[in-house]
Amino acid sequence: MKYISIIGSTGSIGTQTLEIVRANPDIEVSALACGKNIDLMEKQIREFKPACASVWSEKDAADLRTRLKDMNIQIHSGMEGLIEVATYGQAELVITAIVGMRGLKPTVEAIKAGKHIGLANKETLVTAGHLIMPMAKEYGINIYPVDSEHSAIFQSLNGENGNEYEKILLTCSGGPFRGKKRSDLVNVKAEDALKHPNWSMGRKITIDSATLVNKGLEVMEAKWLFDAELSQIEVVVHPQSIIHSAVQYKDGAIMAQLGTPDMKIPIQYAIYYPKRRPLESKRLDLFDIGTLTFERPDTETFEGLAFAYEAMKKGGNMPTIYNAANEKAVARFLNGEINFLDIPATIKDCMDNCKFIPDATLIDVLETETAVYEYIESRTKN
Ligand code: NDP
Repeated sequence: MKYISIIGSTGSIGTQTLEIVRANPDIEVSALACGKNIDLMEKQIREFKPACASVWSEKDAADLRTRLKDMNIQIHSGMEGLIEVATYGQAELVITAIVGMRGLKPTVEAIKAGKHIGLANKETLVTAGHLIMPMAKEYGINIYPVDSEHSAIFQSLNGENGNEYEKILLTCSGGPFRGKKRSDLVNVKAEDALKHPNWSMGRKITIDSATLVNKGLEVMEAKWLFDAELSQIEVVVHPQSIIHSAVQYKDGAIMAQLGTPDMKIPIQYAIYYPKRRPLESKRLDLFDIGTLTFERPDTETFEGLAFAYEAMKKGGNMPTIYNAANEKAVARFLNGEINFLDIPATIKDCMDNCKFIPDATLIDVLETETAVYEYIESRTKN
C-alpha cells in the first residue's frame, strides 16, 4: 500500500492526482488540504476517507466539521492546518498541488517530517530552491517533479548512471499568443489569455503560459532540480507540445520524453517512481502528428522570460521578487485592473525597486513576498 497526502486537492493537479488514486486500489489517501472549495472537499473526503483534512478559513473548517460529523476525521484550518496535512501520519509522499508561495512552509515541514515530495508547486523551488534542495539532501528526501517538462527531463536522465549532460532543452508551446508582437498584445483580454492551445490547467498558470513567465519559472525550477547552470538550460518553442522536454548529453545524443498533454502521466510517474504502471490515457499517434516544429523564444515580446534569467542570475530574493510581482500582477489582470503587457512591466518595476537580499533566508523569502505586495499596492494608490 502507498500512502499519499495532497495539498491543493481541489485544483487541476489535485483532482487529477485523485483520479490516479481512484484507478489504483494500492494507493491510500492520508490527508487532503484545499483553499475554499469545501463542497468538493466534502465529496473528496467522503470518497477517499482521509483521516485528516484542512481548508483555509476557520469558518469553512467549522462548516465542514458539521457536514462531516458522521465521519471520523480531523479538520484543521489556516497555515497550521496545511502543515498538519503535509506532515500527517504514515503518508510517505506529499503531492504539493497548492498554487502560490503558501506551498513553501508546508513543503519545508513535510521534508523535515521525512515525507518525499511530488512537486507541482513551482513557487517552492523558484523562491527557495537554494534552501529546499540542501534540506532535502540533509533529510534524505526525494523530490519528484510533477511539472510535465521537469518530469520529462527526470525521465530522460533516468538510467544514464550519472552520465553528464551538456544541456537541458526545456520545451514551451509558446502559449496562445505565439507569433504576436507587443503591439498585438496591448488589448488582449483575460478570456483570450486563458485559451491555452494544448493544456488544460488552473487559471494562474494558464496566464503564466501566455506571458511565458511560466517558462521563466520552469527555468528556475530546472536549475535547482537538476543542479544545472543557467547557461545549460535552453528554452525551445515547440508548438505541438509533444516533446515534453529533453536532455542533450556530452556525445551530442538527445534523450527526450514524448507524450500526449496529459498531466496524469507525470503525476503517476512521481507517485510510482521508478515503476511505470498502466494508465488509461490517449496514446500518441505519430502518424497523426506528422510534423514537429521548433522555434527560438521571442524574448523581446515576451519579456517575462528574459526577466526570469535576470532574476535567477542575481539570485538571493530576486526570484521571489519576480514570482510575487507576477502573482499579484496576474491576479490584477484577471480582475480586469491592468492590461496584459502590465504583467511583465510590474515584474520589472519590482525587480528594480524592491529590496534585494543576496543571502535570503526562509524568513527573508516570505517577507519579500509581503514587501512586493505592499510595493505594488503603494504604486496602485499613487
Ligand atoms: P489550481 O488553481 O487549479 O488549484 C490550486 C489548488 O490550491 C486548489 O486546490 C486550491 O484550493 C488550493 N489552494 C489555493 N489557496 C489555498 C490555501 N490558502 N490553502 C490551501 N489550498 C489552497 O492550480 P493548478 O492545479 O493548476 O496548479 C497548482 C500548482 O501546480 C501551481 O503551483 C502550478 O504552477 C503547478 N503546476 C500546475 C500544472 C497544471 O497542469 N495545472 C502543471 C505544472 C505545475 P481551492 O480551489 O479549494 O481554493
